[in-house]
Amino acid sequence: MTTSQITWDLTELFPSLINPKVDQTIAEAKALADSFEKAYRGKIASLSAEDLMRSFEDIEAFEAKFSDVTLYSSLSFAADMTQPQAQSLNDRVDKLSANISKQLAFYSLELGALVKSRPQIINEPTLSNYKHMLERAQRRVEHQLSEVEEQLIIEKDQFGVNAWEELQSKWLNTRLFDVMVLGEKKTLSYGEANGLLSHPDRDTRESANRSIYGLLGKDGEVFSAALRSICNDWVTVSKRRKYASPMESSLINNDTQEVIIRNLLETVEEGAESYRRYLKLKTKLMDLPVLGNHDIVAPLPESAELKFNFQQAQDLVIQAYNRFDPQYASAVKEIFEKRHIDATPRFGKRNGAFCASYYNGKSAYILQSFNGTLTDVFTLAHELGHATHDWFASRNQTLLNMNIPSTVAETASIFGELLLTDRLLDSAKSDSERKALLCLVLDEAGMTAFQVTARVWFEQALYASIEEGEYLECKTICSHWIKSRDRIFGDAVRWFPEMEAEWTMKPHYYMANYRFYNYPYVYAQMFVYALYQKYLEEGKAFVPKLMKILSAGGSISPLEIGGIVGLNVASPEFWMSGLKVFERFIGDLEKII
Ligand SMILES: [Zn+2]
Repeated sequence: MTTSQITWDLTELFPSLINPKVDQTIAEAKALADSFEKAYRGKIASLSAEDLMRSFEDIEAFEAKFSDVTLYSSLSFAADMTQPQAQSLNDRVDKLSANISKQLAFYSLELGALVKSRPQIINEPTLSNYKHMLERAQRRVEHQLSEVEEQLIIEKDQFGVNAWEELQSKWLNTRLFDVMVLGEKKTLSYGEANGLLSHPDRDTRESANRSIYGLLGKDGEVFSAALRSICNDWVTVSKRRKYASPMESSLINNDTQEVIIRNLLETVEEGAESYRRYLKLKTKLMDLPVLGNHDIVAPLPESAELKFNFQQAQDLVIQAYNRFDPQYASAVKEIFEKRHIDATPRFGKRNGAFCASYYNGKSAYILQSFNGTLTDVFTLAHELGHATHDWFASRNQTLLNMNIPSTVAETASIFGELLLTDRLLDSAKSDSERKALLCLVLDEAGMTAFQVTARVWFEQALYASIEEGEYLECKTICSHWIKSRDRIFGDAVRWFPEMEAEWTMKPHYYMANYRFYNYPYVYAQMFVYALYQKYLEEGKAFVPKLMKILSAGGSISPLEIGGIVGLNVASPEFWMSGLKVFERFIGDLEKII
């Protein structure tokens, strides 16, 4: 198993890239989009509940057909980005997809107009399957502009605010970084240099950090011009769309409320004290006088001994899910049996890891680059959690209800990581193995819950600054970042001066019209911790509740999702229960130091 290639089998989708079935499916999908436009353009607002129901089924039929092609082309391309046939199909499908979304853009606008003029339709029994989707449409409608205005925004953004976003990613992808790797000078791409930030060798980490942020900081004026324009644009657009704040759009997209997020962030701020306590433990474990910023996510020396081949990783993850419940583990077992996973690292393959939903197959496909580290085993458990979510949701929901907000989409994945953590802690042979494990888990949660919270504050500070009429020059932006960062890290970490430019590299800050990507991750982490606590209290009685949560897909709100397990995310004390799980891991670590 160690030497054989773990590659996925896409023949369930299409026999090959050049098989005529690909063209045939594209033509059929296009025909469905055309007939949908013909049947419904200009007519949605006057549809009866029964006809509206039929329109939902029709759009789902189109999306189901088209999703096989978009999935196949993107997976083929991700597996080998250098393969000309995969490149060409991917490009063709991307363009077609953009054209079809323009062609069908009328649909959401007209649906908005419908729920605005006839809100009672939301409660029609015929439409009960789509009730929550219609409620979400109703929340958006107040902020929609006319079709012409919406089209103008899309056209102007393409070469306006989107270009700033493109500039940032072009910069990152075209620069080279000189890094001393284990004492040897290497000139590396951003992706390669970035991969060294958690290298086991401390000097290598320092060199990678200083090289990346030093070079980024030199062009701070370019990045501040980009970020300033994007944020100012957003403030203007938010006002034009009558959002109460620059965050409101994302609250609607994430199907949540401002007060819930405020409570969440306040709890994390209170918990930062515990995070700093952990960072001080880590300083001791690493035998350092003070923790440098380059040590925050460094692996403990002990973790180098933890190596796994793919078969071992597969067995561990299956065991972890099986211990929770054999039926719950079905998706995980099926992914391996059907070879829906591509795990071997190779040239031309997409970096990172993802899980792509395969609705028609009621399954999913997973890509990762498995190198045998503990982190890789956790990534596998995480992505298989997404596959589990897809497994349950696709069996119980129609396609329009597969649109799951980010606040909920990470539920099964983080839960899967916790199942693996418990499985590994139970079989750990020594305290040093336990330490390596707990630190990995705490590092991960520390980044997701705490460091990401600093990014929310940073983004809020940028908008507040604009509202106060401040000019966001490079130094001002740096000082907003340092203030937000220090609210989390306090005196627990010593930072290189180059780190004032840390904000420059986060692509999310530059995503035009997609603001506050950040807090849903904090939400998910803390919510799943609270969920796991429930599982520990209730044992087997909890299993069907989790299945119910995953089966619900996006058909109910995150608030109702919490209600399934008796958790009230709207209560100010709720988030404390998540924080307690984090603190318990710290307590476990303290016991073995
Ligand atoms: Zn995930």
